[in-house]
Amino acid sequence: MDFELVDHLVIGAGFAGLCAAIKLQEAGERDFVVVERGADVGGTWRDNTYPGAACDVPSQLYSFSFAPNPDWSMSFSQQPEIQAYIRKTAEASGTLDRFVFRTSVDDATWDGGAQRWIVRTSSEGATRTFAARTLISGAGGLSEPKLPDIEGIGSFGGELFHSARWDHDTDLTGKRVAVIGTGASSIQIVPAIQPQVAHLDVYQRTAPWVMPRHDRTYSSLEKAALRTVPGLQKVYREAIYWGRESYVLPFTKAPQILSPVQRIAAGNIKKGIQDPELRAAVTPDFRMGCKRILISNTYYPALDADNTELVTDRITRVTETGIVTADGTERPIDVLIVATGFHTTELPITEHITGREGHTLAAQFEEKGMSAYKGTTVPGFPNLFMLVGPNTGLGHSSMVFMIESQVAYVVDAVRTMRTHDYATVEVSERAERAFHADVQHRMQPTVWSTGGCASWYLDKHGHNTTLWPRSTFAFRALTRSFDVAAYVVTAPTRTTREVVPA
Ligand code: NAP
Repeated sequence: MDFELVDHLVIGAGFAGLCAAIKLQEAGERDFVVVERGADVGGTWRDNTYPGAACDVPSQLYSFSFAPNPDWSMSFSQQPEIQAYIRKTAEASGTLDRFVFRTSVDDATWDGGAQRWIVRTSSEGATRTFAARTLISGAGGLSEPKLPDIEGIGSFGGELFHSARWDHDTDLTGKRVAVIGTGASSIQIVPAIQPQVAHLDVYQRTAPWVMPRHDRTYSSLEKAALRTVPGLQKVYREAIYWGRESYVLPFTKAPQILSPVQRIAAGNIKKGIQDPELRAAVTPDFRMGCKRILISNTYYPALDADNTELVTDRITRVTETGIVTADGTERPIDVLIVATGFHTTELPITEHITGREGHTLAAQFEEKGMSAYKGTTVPGFPNLFMLVGPNTGLGHSSMVFMIESQVAYVVDAVRTMRTHDYATVEVSERAERAFHADVQHRMQPTVWSTGGCASWYLDKHGHNTTLWPRSTFAFRALTRSFDVAAYVVTAPTRTTREVVPA
């Protein structure tokens, strides 16, 4: 077999993979490749092109700190603008020649003898195999659409697609359309398509809390000021950052503090919906924050429109022509849009990564629970670094901040390996267990555990394996430098020794 030797192989070209590429290059690492199954950079922002797709984190914060953009047109940017920003940043970074597009990672297997990851990739029938010193996964937590397991869904005769795989060839004008789900994607899709369709059924299993969206267009004067006044954009970003960070205390320790905010969301329902029955149907029965807090000024009015019906009866099956609910009603439709989220607690990439002991990361997570030291490294998987790994998600701020923190940690690990001539670094079981226990301990009083809802934050055992239960600055402090004391290292001579903390 022909191997292509590389120092680092990065999986995925979303915010995470791109950040890794840029920071590796800045650190003087030249020998890396980024493997991306899509045709462009952007990850979830490339894939989610549904009508109304926009970010619910302010653009000033939802962008790289090292690539500020004074030209955001609105405070919460639309998907095309975010995708253009990622593309522009990638082009400006001079790393794009290291990206291999339309290429999937079939499997990555640790070869202990070679002290490398053997990564088989395929692209339209052609295969390439890389032998990489480190494997950096930026495959993301929201990359694999989750289709609902509903009887008969395969037999539906009309158009059917997931929100993250929008079929732009399907014209919704004058059609009867159903949307299943009322999460972050759905509440953006519903108001965007409601005026266009003949009739819209929105299938709600659990009502979300939806806050008003304080969005606005930046004036040319504001943009000019952000571009020219030294330090202004940084100060503005910082102000947004600390405003967001104020949610950490109520989310993690004192959920009751959110009661006044919950009243604002209740006011949003009253403002947007006139019908009392509909108001009651969309009022959540759990504490705000337990599920992601959504923002929209247009979702409730769209539900209240004459051509929309909110359906809260349980779906029992899908027929060739419609959806049947538990009360026996069948509602005919031409198009079925499933906005039912992603595989988040199973991280699909883990099925393709096989570690030192011959089992996949998915199997290890299945047996021991999904967990990684600092959300990044896992015992049994030397030189593997996960970006946006277990317990790094946020309910309140920007994932780009978390990604930059993790990438700094990974780049420092690479630097440490070079400086000390380590061939491998593998987090010790003890360090990882202690970290996991601390995370789970901190999880107990959080609104995600106590708020009275079921959410995708929790795995099938009820453990929150997705969110970070502390401030983002605490995460940044933890990932500021590579703590080799928590690792078992191997020299190229292949003698293993534990690095004893000083
Ligand atoms: P989601 O938040 O997981 O919502 C999925 C929706 O589908 C929920 O309402 C869920 O109901 C419902 N559902 C799932 N399976 C169902 C079934 N079998 N039958 C009926 N209903 C079902 O997914 P999403 O809206 O795609 O958002 C996922 C994540 O993407 C968000 O949390 C957020 O992190 C990210 N996102 C971000 C933005 C942004 O602006 N930054 C925009 C979109 C998405 P239950 O609540 O009862 O489970």
